[in-house]
Amino acid sequence: MKPIPYGKQEITSADIESVINTLQSDFWTQGPKIAEFEQKFAEYVGAKYAVAVANGTAALHLSALALGVKEGVNVITSPLTFVASANCIKYAGGNVFFADIDEKTLLLDLKKVEKLILSKPKGFFQGIIPVDFAGKAVDLERLKLLAQKYNLWILEDACHAPGGYFVDSKGEKQFCGNGNFADLAIFSFHPVKHIACGEGGMITTNRQDLYEKLLLLRTHGITRNPELLQENHGGWYYEMQTLGYNYRLTDLQCALGISQLQRAKENLAKRHQIALRYQQAFESLSEVKILPYDKGNAYHLYIIQTEKRKELYDYLKAHQIFCQVHYIPVHLQPFYKNLGYKKGDFPMVENYYEKCLSLPMYPTLTENEQSFVIEKIKAFFA
Ligand SMILES: *Cc1c(COP(=O)(O)O)cnc(C)c1O
Repeated sequence: MKPIPYGKQEITSADIESVINTLQSDFWTQGPKIAEFEQKFAEYVGAKYAVAVANGTAALHLSALALGVKEGVNVITSPLTFVASANCIKYAGGNVFFADIDEKTLLLDLKKVEKLILSKPKGFFQGIIPVDFAGKAVDLERLKLLAQKYNLWILEDACHAPGGYFVDSKGEKQFCGNGNFADLAIFSFHPVKHIACGEGGMITTNRQDLYEKLLLLRTHGITRNPELLQENHGGWYYEMQTLGYNYRLTDLQCALGISQLQRAKENLAKRHQIALRYQQAFESLSEVKILPYDKGNAYHLYIIQTEKRKELYDYLKAHQIFCQVHYIPVHLQPFYKNLGYKKGDFPMVENYYEKCLSLPMYPTLTENEQSFVIEKIKAFFA
């Protein structure tokens, strides 16, 4: 048996052909593949606008800037996420606050969020960054009610959840990143994510004002749009209207993304098949805790919880099964400890961290490979 990682990209001959065609075209960057990828991605998640950027972290950084994060701005996020969800607030000069997770969903616990808000003076917080952790969609309808009550913007970190959804109070599916509740949503195209470009990211929104800000910020704050120019000296003329960055995604990466996106639905269905097999295997295994199956979960990760996490991790590794831990709570990272956070601040996420293990989950995981993983886990506990 070959080594089995926890996540892995898939490449097809159609993907390769798509990239080669772009390599042989006039545009490697700033060409037509960018708008094509943006339009198709926006359609996939059901949003009006999409802005392709260099990676998910750049998407977070530009989103924070577009939403007005700067010195003195206070933002809430989950301690159970990749560090970038919190770091983007620091990049822009703001302050990071965490609220604990709900152990039943592993998402931000809205009761704890409200408690945090009420512990500070009125108007203290400006925004919140919920995370669709492991692929489970945040109930943004409920979060939006809270956000409206306290005048917060919402930036959805949907890196784990393209194709994921929650069902709203009217019984409608609300897809992650569709812009119906959050002001902005961000995605990543890192090879372990659902759609891979090598590096890559996307911001989706239904708000035209934010869309226009993001376009400027992505490319040095420069515009050539005649409607936006303050002066116009001729065909060569452009203006740098704000301090932006070079956070562009190349046409080569977009060509790969467009091709990968065509399989996104099919691959999501494969993730569900894998999740269902794990559910079945572990339902009756008392040493392993799993969350209930959720049709709207995009199953970026399949997580089990066990008291013997380290032993199981080492045992599987010895059998060439390379699991991962998602995540070390962000507030326990030395950088955030230096800002005043400490062990004991968020008991739910800390307790979860002691037990969690992400099992192999990717569309090309074969039935044989998955059976091997399940067999080894059962053998470990036997
Ligand atoms: C992957 C990821 C990011 C960062 O994306 P990059 O493309 O690696 O910069 C941010 N948040 C979450 C939840 C992620 O999983």
